[in-house]
Amino acid sequence: MKLPLLSLVLATATALAAPKEQPLTPGGKYPAHTMDRPRPRVITPPSHGQAPSDAIVLFNGKDLSQWKRDAGKDDPAKAPDDAAKWKVEPDKYFEIVPLSGSIRTREKFQGDVQFHIEWATPAEVKGNSQGRGNSGVFVGGFPELQVLDSYDNDTYPDGQAGGLYGVYPPMVNACRKPGEWQSYDIIVERQRKDEQGKVIKKARLSVLHNGIVVQWGREFDSAVQEGDLGLQDHHNPGRYRNIWVRPINIDHFDDEGTPPPAKPAAPVKK
Ligand code: MG
Repeated sequence: MKLPLLSLVLATATALAAPKEQPLTPGGKYPAHTMDRPRPRVITPPSHGQAPSDAIVLFNGKDLSQWKRDAGKDDPAKAPDDAAKWKVEPDKYFEIVPLSGSIRTREKFQGDVQFHIEWATPAEVKGNSQGRGNSGVFVGGFPELQVLDSYDNDTYPDGQAGGLYGVYPPMVNACRKPGEWQSYDIIVERQRKDEQGKVIKKARLSVLHNGIVVQWGREFDSAVQEGDLGLQDHHNPGRYRNIWVRPINIDHFDDEGTPPPAKPAAPVKK
């Protein structure tokens, strides 16, 4: 039986007027384009040497009270305290005092984090290969991220700047000239296990050198869930400044957000 023309027109109009059902976004909680989900937190991004507003600043510009010295072969006298012995140039940078020992943060950082570190090798070039501006960044659970003057300085590729020492060379050599400030941005993703304790995602490390991706999603069998940040005394001079860390929450984006703004109340009819 054919529908009368009027009924057909009405049915079509009703279908067109009905809101289109949107697919759920990952997580299965919110449909696409909904205004009802939490808003991403508002932060002030980094600018002109200032850390972003949600970061923990790891160098206060005045002293190295947030850092401690690694006891080890560079501490034969067994100093009575664990204070870092590197030299601070107030409000500018701090620099390695060769043979005074590597340093690491007193605080440990839980879960997934982003580190930002700026460094410079000496403007006056001395040495070659691994003996030229050698230092390094240690993130617990991962190999050393090499710091080296790799500008026109050949060495083994998995030991040059941006390399994860002895494992992965950087994708490209993005090194600036000796004496120029350079940056590392390091994204740390910790291992995930399911409820039975089976690893469902390995720990991963990604690195940007001077804004260029040089390591992406490098996987490691590390169960470390929190770690400090270490800087290496490889007996070469070098400088650091503007160091910060911020937590990143890959799995629970919505839980970290800001609630959506309240909807205005409907006007009262009089
Ligand atoms: Mg090194």
